[in-house]
Formats: sequence, structure tokens, C-alpha cells
Amino acid sequence: MKVAVIGGGAAGYFFSAQLSQSPGIEVTLFEGTSRPLTKVRISGGGRCNVTHNLFDPQALSTSYPRGQRELRSVFARFQPQDTIAWFAKAGVQLRAEPDGRMFPTTNSSGTIIACLKDLVTKGGVVQRNSEACFAIWKEQDLFWLRTRHSDREGPFSAVVLATGSSPQGHRLAESLGHSITPLAPSLFTFEIAPHLWKHQSGLAGVSVPDVNVSVSTPQKKFSRRGPLLLTHWGLSGPAVLKLSAFAARELQATHYKALVGLDFFPERSTEEVLHSLQQQKQTFSRQNAANAPVEPIPKRLWRSLQMAAGIPPEKKMSDLKRTELESWAALLKNWELPLTGKGTFKEEFVTCGGVDLKEIDFRSMQSKICSNLFFAGEVLDVDGITGGFNFQNAWSTAWIAAEHLRKEFLRNNN
Ligand SMILES: Cc1cc2nc3c(=O)[nH]c(=O)nc-3n(C[C@H](O)[C@H](O)[C@H](O)COP(=O)(O)OP(=O)(O)OC[C@H]3O[C@@H](n4cnc5c(N)ncnc54)[C@H](O)[C@@H]3O)c2cc1C
Repeated sequence: MKVAVIGGGAAGYFFSAQLSQSPGIEVTLFEGTSRPLTKVRISGGGRCNVTHNLFDPQALSTSYPRGQRELRSVFARFQPQDTIAWFAKAGVQLRAEPDGRMFPTTNSSGTIIACLKDLVTKGGVVQRNSEACFAIWKEQDLFWLRTRHSDREGPFSAVVLATGSSPQGHRLAESLGHSITPLAPSLFTFEIAPHLWKHQSGLAGVSVPDVNVSVSTPQKKFSRRGPLLLTHWGLSGPAVLKLSAFAARELQATHYKALVGLDFFPERSTEEVLHSLQQQKQTFSRQNAANAPVEPIPKRLWRSLQMAAGIPPEKKMSDLKRTELESWAALLKNWELPLTGKGTFKEEFVTCGGVDLKEIDFRSMQSKICSNLFFAGEVLDVDGITGGFNFQNAWSTAWIAAEHLRKEFLRNNN
């Protein structure tokens, strides 16, 4: 059996490493650039957030705005526990951080790259770097390729497309009969109208542990809860990144113009927040309102929120009228800010859109349109929120495809 893998990224290498352990199968790995595994190298700020310590397939799948339903069965067969065991068997230990993200204990993406390259080399995979694939076609059930240095490469009994979000990879899938759902960036930060945010420049670096962030587009309102980080340009942190993934398509359609709402007390009603303010008024009656924040709002942010509610910073708590407290409580439950653009999140980036999931059999990762064509990783219309979920998709789908081909080979040769 001769298998061609197109794309030397996370999915292509994991697939090759897994399949090359089976004798009798010849794997050739075509990578367009001279440096395979580039995204693994830069991932997680150079530390590579390999996976997430979430071991229930159903719960895990909810971290994927696209692919949620299809990945449930995939994770039932290969999930983060299997990833941990797989890398441990190859000599790489992973460790979880308090937020669930898992990194190699060396804290270096170089460890993952060395592990994958070593396995692939030991498994006898033919690695063809700087060898982009431009065309794939079938003749009598066998695949042929046109690559940078060859007009006719093959024949191969199976092809795995693991080209990530590259448009060239999507064109190859289209040429074999597949449809591509529209692409859109995912995992981005929110830029707030500069004319408003410049007054808040002192807030950069302030974080709040639990905020409900919502965004309203003409089609739909989205919201996500979690830690919020304020930056020089606007909003970031897990709640915003999660929200950007779930609203990726709708926000692209509005050119990233929408209304953002921040609820700083998601566990309390507006009346309860008003009650907290009244208690602060009694306890800190002699203090300036700006110096009496309600936990857990940091003082710097408290001052900004007070001004946004129209209350002068030097006003004494004892002088606050009920109407002022009411408008302050309303603002703490819904601070509305105009979104005017998207920023980049340097630690992780992913594209939503790709090969239409209806056209894939997720039991094997095989195309329903072109037999013996397989897909793995980000080339599919699958993407996850930040936290190691995108690599987990690459490992799981690559493993399923490799296992299917291994079993096929055994069946045909016994
Ligand atoms: C800055 C950054 C940080 C990230 N950090 C994390 C993280 O910490 N954790 C996480 O889970 N996810 C992270 N991600 C997302 C993750 O990197 C991707 O989801 C993952 O790499 C997808 O793997 P893949 O193999 O499908 O695609 P890729 O890793 O993109 O690999 C595709 C490969 O195919 C090659 N290729 C494309 N077209 C052709 C062709 N025609 N012929 C030959 N070769 C071709 C490309 O050159 C590339 O090497 C990060 C992404 C970025 C950009």
C-alpha cells in the first residue's frame, strides 16, 4: 500500500507517525514549504498547547463551534487521554495548567516537533519538503499527483489531505468533487471604537475573573462567560476569544461592527447589584465613590465604570442619589461598547470554514465522494476555541484515518 500525505503540519505528521508503525505500508509526506510543522513551532507562544485535560467526548465537543456533532464519535475513539498516552509512549510527558491547557513538561514546542519527526523518520516515511502538490487525479482507482518537481508522481492507493487552512489545499479538495464552506478568521480580540477607548487607556492589563460578554449582530445575539482582559485597543481574554469563535461568521458579515455588552456580575440580578451598591454606600459613606469598588472589580476599572455611569469620580458615597445608584447598577450589568474591528491573538489563530463535513465519513475520515481520499485537521470545516482543542482535532482525525488504512491493509493482506 502506498499512501501520499499532502501537508507536513500537525495532522500530516501525526497521521504519518501513526501509520508508519505498520510494516508493508509506504508513506510519502509532501510538504509545500522547506520547514514542516511551522505552526506547531510557533503554537502556544512557542510552548505548544498540545491538548486540553477534558476527557468526556460530549463535553469536549462543545468547544468546537464548527464540527461539534461530528467530533463526538471521533473523540469517543481518540480523545485527550489517548493523546497523552500516545505522546507518553513516544517519551513526551504532558502537564496540565490550572485552566486545563496541556503543554509538554519541557514547555517547548521543539519537544513535540522532535518527537513527531523522530517517529516519522524511524517509520521510514519519505519526507519531501519544498514539494507542494498542485494537482491530484485518479486513473483506474489509483491516485497521481503533480508536484513542484514532478509532473506525474505515483501511483498511490490512498491520499490524505492535511493541508490546514491553505487555499491551495481547498482547491485540491474541490478538484476531487468536494465543496468548501466559506472561510472566516476565528479566535480574535475585540477592538473598541478608538474615540471612546482612548479615554480608557489606563485600563490596559486589568482583568476580571468572570464576565458575561455578549455581541449583537443583525442575525443573532451571542454570549460567553469567563475571564476578561482589557487591552490598549479593547477587549481580550478567554471570554472574548470564545465569543469570537462562536460568532466568527456573523461578525465577518458585519465587517466586525457590532455592539458589545459586558455584564460584570453574571451571578447577580440588577436588583442584587443595586443592593451591593447600597451596602457600599453605608459601609464607605465617607469615601469617594471611586474608592469603594464592589468585589471583584479592580479599582482602576471601577473608576471608569463610575464615569461611564455619569457619576463624578470625587462624589462621596453618602451623596449618591438612588437614581445614580440605579444607573450605575444598570451599567455594571450591561456596559455597552461599539466593536469597530478585530485584533490578533498571538498565541493561537485558526480559520473557520473548509471541506464540508456532510461529505466526510467520520468513522474513517474518508471522502463520501472520492473513495480512498482522506482528510485530517484544519482542512475540514472544524475549528475549536483556544486551549489545545485545535491540535486535538488534528491528532484525533489523523489517528482515525491512519487506523482505518492500517486495518484495510491488514484485511487485504490476510
Ligand atoms: C500562531 C498560532 C498558534 C497556535 N497555537 C495553538 C495551540 O497552542 N494549540 C492548538 O490547539 N492550536 C494552536 N493553533 C492552531 C493549530 O496550529 C492548527 O489548528 C493546526 O496546526 C492545524 O493542523 P493541520 O496539520 O491541519 O494544518 P497546518 O498545521 O496548518 O499544516 C498544514 C501544512 O500543509 C502544508 N500545505 C498546504 N498546502 C499544501 C500543498 N498544496 N502541498 C503541500 N503542502 C501543503 C502547509 O505548508 C502546512 O505545513 C495555533 C495557530 C497559530 C497560527
